[in-house]
Amino acid sequence: MKMNIALLRGDGIGPEIVDSAVEVLKKVADKFGHEMNFTPYLIGGAAIDATGKPLPEETVEGCLASDSVLLGAVGGPKWDTLPGDQRPEKALLGIRAAMELYTNLRPARLYPALKDDCPLKAEIAEKGFDLLIVRELTGGIYFGDRGYREGKYGTEAYDTECYSRVEIERIARAAFEAAMVRNKNVISIDKANVLETSRLWRKTVHEIAAEYPEVTCTDMLVDNAAMQLVKNPSQFDVVVTSNMFGDILSDEASQITGSIGMLASASLGKTKRGLYEPIHGSAPDIAGKDIANPIATILSGAMMLRYAFGLEEEALCIEKAVDDVLDAGIRTADISHGEGAIGCKAMTEEILKRI
Ligand code: NAD
Repeated sequence: MKMNIALLRGDGIGPEIVDSAVEVLKKVADKFGHEMNFTPYLIGGAAIDATGKPLPEETVEGCLASDSVLLGAVGGPKWDTLPGDQRPEKALLGIRAAMELYTNLRPARLYPALKDDCPLKAEIAEKGFDLLIVRELTGGIYFGDRGYREGKYGTEAYDTECYSRVEIERIARAAFEAAMVRNKNVISIDKANVLETSRLWRKTVHEIAAEYPEVTCTDMLVDNAAMQLVKNPSQFDVVVTSNMFGDILSDEASQITGSIGMLASASLGKTKRGLYEPIHGSAPDIAGKDIANPIATILSGAMMLRYAFGLEEEALCIEKAVDDVLDAGIRTADISHGEGAIGCKAMTEEILKRI
């Protein structure tokens, strides 16, 4: 297969971790006989410094012309005093909008080798968990009608949650498709005991569920889901939920893995192209020191192979190399508890050796 991949290295540790992921992707491409071409584009603070804009036109055009996009992270203290709409982070919303990415996939897995990093009780961590949150990304209360008005108690502010059937159908399909290549279990999270949007959500999700008879589909109220995630996370396989609930629950899920430097994500839209990125930021405190953990970005590369290109075996090859490295006790500083940590480049080398 021939793949043209746009690289958005960004700021802080972004360039280091993206370069690590590229090395791993190249090795996998060689091993399985694929051709991968990588084209870098500017984004975030680096783009501001070079062009005055966080998201230059050329970057948007390059991403839209590519087969898939790998992003590091953007932002840093150098640009923190700029007005909101000129800051590096503005580029993230811009590129997601330009690529019409309405599905956010966030896996949260507790690696057996890292179970001591899990902040949950030992008997819960012992069972492990491997879940995937499918979050609706472009609708709901973050995009609804909002403003200020005069109300019963004077000035009040309001935000509106609105979901169309079409928006729910497409995110539900994304969740069921994901479940088909996992453990065929979807839990749909809503607040249908209170919210009208949640009642439409629930009804629509079950209509789509009928198209996937092999997949079990159940509902859970969001307040219960927040509790269940810390009480019994191993019950979840695929979770599908709205933009705001997904925002909150995916951060909760990432915390219980105990390791921000390990978590990948994918944002998908109408096309299979997608944007793949670690969930962490640009970590300016450790940038340029060769101590960042590249695994989240390397695993984002594996997600790209799986979702953008349908290359399951190649994706598993990367995931297995990461498992093997962790099982061998090899650690970067963020997961080492201060003992014998290796750097970003050395960790990349260890993963490359196992591919
Ligand atoms: P952060 O995720 O960058 O860092 C939080 C902490 O985790 C830091 O101590 C950092 O050193 C550590 N960390 C993060 N990634 C790591 C890795 N791969 N290996 C080892 N340690 C790692 O969050 P923050 O400090 O709140 O934000 C820093 C900058 O990143 C800000 O400018 C913020 O706006 C930006 N940000 C960007 C994105 C993105 O590009 N998607 C996401 C979040 C934050």
